[in-house]
Amino acid sequence: MCIFCKIASGEMNTNKILEDESFLAFHDVNPKAPVHILVIPKTHIEKFDDTPPEVMAQMTTFIKKVANLIGVDKSGYRLITNNGEDAGQEVAHLHFHILGGTKLSWQHLQDTNSKEFI
Ligand code: AMP
Repeated sequence: MCIFCKIASGEMNTNKILEDESFLAFHDVNPKAPVHILVIPKTHIEKFDDTPPEVMAQMTTFIKKVANLIGVDKSGYRLITNNGEDAGQEVAHLHFHILGGTKLSWQHLQDTNSKEFI
């Protein structure tokens, strides 16, 4: 069982924010912004590319509820999903990062050799 399946099943403890029968939101253990929340489906889906559109539609509604609950819906937030190896996906269970609580820069996304691709 993957680590996020263990969190979804309650086998592993986490700092939960919101939960319904299909999705769970919890604090990232290694926050990269004052607000850094992960949203996962409770069933195992490896990544965005494997996600059925109807699940994505429900997840969109759930993500908006989380943003509203935390209060970043007004101030703004960044939504990220790392899809696969080149994106740096570390946990192979679909998750969206909700980042906010401050003005976010793009700096941390810049590779040292990024000019090669511009
Ligand atoms: P990604 O690189 O997109 O796969 O992101 C995985 C994220 O999961 C990272 O930001 C980690 O800090 C976070 N993470 C890993 N294990 C846990 C955990 N047990 N509880 C909360 N967040 C976790």
